[in-house]
Amino acid sequence: MLTENSMQKPRKRILTGDRPTGPMHIGHYVGSLENRVRLQDEYDCFFIVADYQFLTDHLSETEKIEHNIRQTILDWLSVGMDPAKSTFFIQSMVPEIAELTMYFSMLVSLARLHRNPTVKEEFKESGLRAMSYGFLGYPVSQAADILIVRSHLVPVGDDNVAHVEQTREIARTFNRIFRDVFPVPEPLIGEVPRLPGTDGKKMGNSMDNAIYLSDAPEEVCRKVGAAITDPARIRAIDKGHPDICNIYQYHLAYNREEAPDIAELCQQGKIGCVACKQNLAAKLNAFLDPIRERRAFFKARPSIVREAVREGNERTCQKGRETIDLVRQAMHFNYKELAGVK
Ligand code: SF4
Repeated sequence: MLTENSMQKPRKRILTGDRPTGPMHIGHYVGSLENRVRLQDEYDCFFIVADYQFLTDHLSETEKIEHNIRQTILDWLSVGMDPAKSTFFIQSMVPEIAELTMYFSMLVSLARLHRNPTVKEEFKESGLRAMSYGFLGYPVSQAADILIVRSHLVPVGDDNVAHVEQTREIARTFNRIFRDVFPVPEPLIGEVPRLPGTDGKKMGNSMDNAIYLSDAPEEVCRKVGAAITDPARIRAIDKGHPDICNIYQYHLAYNREEAPDIAELCQQGKIGCVACKQNLAAKLNAFLDPIRERRAFFKARPSIVREAVREGNERTCQKGRETIDLVRQAMHFNYKELAGVK
């Protein structure tokens, strides 16, 4: 008999995640983590730690990777991403992703990969002298991440839709050549606020300009105190331009209520940068305090982290095996009888 529960429509599936390149910062929080905490109540969320992708431009730093993965998971837990509601997994621990990447690599031309604007941009930023086959092909591996769990949606910023387009093309090509196995995932477009680093450049781990979710209160005060503001302001009575001030961008994200008043006072030369920064540091620390507390809780209980990853990997592998079975059947790559496999 159908019960009310069994009649409920399955929730749509989402995949998103992070490369474990270092601790996560306040820019990551407003750019994606905050949104994930909301999404996990509404969707069946798979959160990936993309460790293969770490290799594309950090090949000489693999000794850091395990530590970074642990920090990434702690960052997730500390902001409220919840393994009881969603699935956490590590890319390289789901071998089906590598297998799917191999099949997908036959569906994409080299010219198409070379045209990918994100790959070009990231290569330029990486400072690498030559692009490896793995770097060029990482959008294919990313398509496999998304489609191994047959995701319906991929959260992206409005400037990053092109990234999902490659995955959509691969899903469509596979379905056309073989048979309908994959949903063609839709971008779930959100407004993604981008916070500058304390020096005004892109906030990043390698730039020494980020305020981390795991920073101690004194560290936050130090970084905020050293941040670049409106360069034309010498004295507190000089009229300022909050629109070009990094500190004001942080007020907009983390001190929304007071931000309009601060802009006005700054423009009229009625608030000094030191007081403005002290106010921001206090607000940031008040916001980070519960995150720090949760982080300390989970850090002291490594078994919770282990269990979240073990269960998540297992669930993703199971989903991956289902997908690979469908793929191999569709491709006539099914030698179970020939090989005596039950
Ligand atoms: S008063 Fe605040 S908003 Fe204005 S320039 Fe100084 S730090 Fe920036």
